[in-house]
Amino acid sequence: MVKLKELRKNALKDLGATTNDSPLADIDYILLNLLKFSRTDILLGEKTLDCNQKKLFDEAFAQLKSGKPVQYTAGGCEFMSLWFETNESTLIPRADTEILVELIIEKYKDTGEINILDIGTGTGCIAISLAHFLPHSKVWGIDISAEAIKTAKKNAKRLGASDRCSFMEWDILRGFPDLPQQMDIVVSNPPYIPDTDIAGLDKKVKEFEPLSALAGGNDGLDFFRKITEDVKLTKNGCLAFEVGINQAMDVCDIMSERFCHIETKKDLSGIDRVVFGLFK
Ligand code: GLN
Repeated sequence: MVKLKELRKNALKDLGATTNDSPLADIDYILLNLLKFSRTDILLGEKTLDCNQKKLFDEAFAQLKSGKPVQYTAGGCEFMSLWFETNESTLIPRADTEILVELIIEKYKDTGEINILDIGTGTGCIAISLAHFLPHSKVWGIDISAEAIKTAKKNAKRLGASDRCSFMEWDILRGFPDLPQQMDIVVSNPPYIPDTDIAGLDKKVKEFEPLSALAGGNDGLDFFRKITEDVKLTKNGCLAFEVGINQAMDVCDIMSERFCHIETKKDLSGIDRVVFGLFK
């Protein structure tokens, strides 16, 4: 039987020798989220792990040592204060994406019933948090990956949002999907990394996160062009994108033909992260 404090000490020594840049935080992330210890348990370090817990920890720790992101090894992460199961078929939800979700919540919290589509839904983090925080909304999520759709459906079920969230496999490059209603809002955090930048991505991202969720074509703007061109919205409906570094002006430009009142919003590092506009 090993005590938490010994386990942490040994694991830190072991992981500290790898390229992991936040070893103790990652070890604690597993103890908290996968093994369900509390922060106090971790701080005191006196509790012991039973055989099953030790096995679970060892498996996750081996993956962590191989360089896998901790959100995959521990099975998920928080987004908008909700827990999302995350696996290698989905991008790991990022704090930057909360900017997009918060913007839509702020703008539409006092309206009547609204229909929302999330393109490239992944874990469903955008779609499900919008459904959660806008209880008068109905949300659809599409993704090219069948595995991602499975994950999004599971997340919606666990978070009690299944009755207002529908997910389906669809490749947006084939055109806009047929939906039972006209959309008031279309949101997307599409793949937007320029092809030439893929090789230079952080090893953790490049080796473990799905390429289909990252690569946005030659200049990274393929999905913004295609979605803006094909999107169907109600009059004055809103299209809102998360964009990559230095893409905001180009995306404003792409949207200008079919959209008006185009604005941008910065993330916490001061980078223009969201572009949104109203359908003409
Ligand atoms: N919508 C998901 C997210 O924001 C996935 C985005 C993507 O796969 N590009 O995390």
